[in-house]
Amino acid sequence: MKRGWILVAGLAVLAGTAAGVYRLSKSRTFQIFGGLTSRVETDKKLVALTFDDAPTPATPEVLALLAAQGVKATFYCIGSAMERDPAGVARIAAAGHEVGNHTYSHIRLVFKTPYTIASEVERTTALIRAAGYKGPVTFRPPYGKKLVGLPYYLRSRGLPTVTWDLEPDTFYPGDAARIEEYAVSGARPGSIILMHALCGAACAADRAALPGIIASLKSAGYTFVTVTDLLSEKK
Ligand SMILES: [Zn+2]
Repeated sequence: MKRGWILVAGLAVLAGTAAGVYRLSKSRTFQIFGGLTSRVETDKKLVALTFDDAPTPATPEVLALLAAQGVKATFYCIGSAMERDPAGVARIAAAGHEVGNHTYSHIRLVFKTPYTIASEVERTTALIRAAGYKGPVTFRPPYGKKLVGLPYYLRSRGLPTVTWDLEPDTFYPGDAARIEEYAVSGARPGSIILMHALCGAACAADRAALPGIIASLKSAGYTFVTVTDLLSEKK
């Protein structure tokens, strides 16, 4: 009987630890080493638009939408996607946007060897540089996942980890009006907006929402900046 209770207690502790590790791995606002940024604390009406999983065939359409509004954004690029579409990432860089690192193969970098972590990060940075991009590079973990090894490595390489505080298409996929409403009403000074505007038909609503988001936030007094420009406001 007593052994049974010890077993139950042991299992409860294990389950609690596992749940804690899981919560830590997907936290948008905390990591163990080096810290991360989901939003910058500032009084200035600055906001950063970020696009994940670049480049894709939709890249030119999104670049045209941004150019029409005179806005600079940050594109988190996947190494394997850059290899498939080197012209796509070169266009992003040539248009003056910031290019970020989103790993080589878009895997969850938790419980991975130091070699895998280094390879996923460094191959991607090399491809970003090969595309002609000379600006600062920040890192965004796929699925927002990180635990100990990845943050430790990123800190050692001086790569800031950047997440987001607004993810309109996660809550309202496929609904351009709701995506726009959520982004515009949720934006605060220093907000980092994550949009998945670069996939195919499934992301058409994001692209449709983009001009309205930009126009509304501009008329509310916001200026769109790159992630690194936003990070430079950090106190
Ligand atoms: Zn991603």
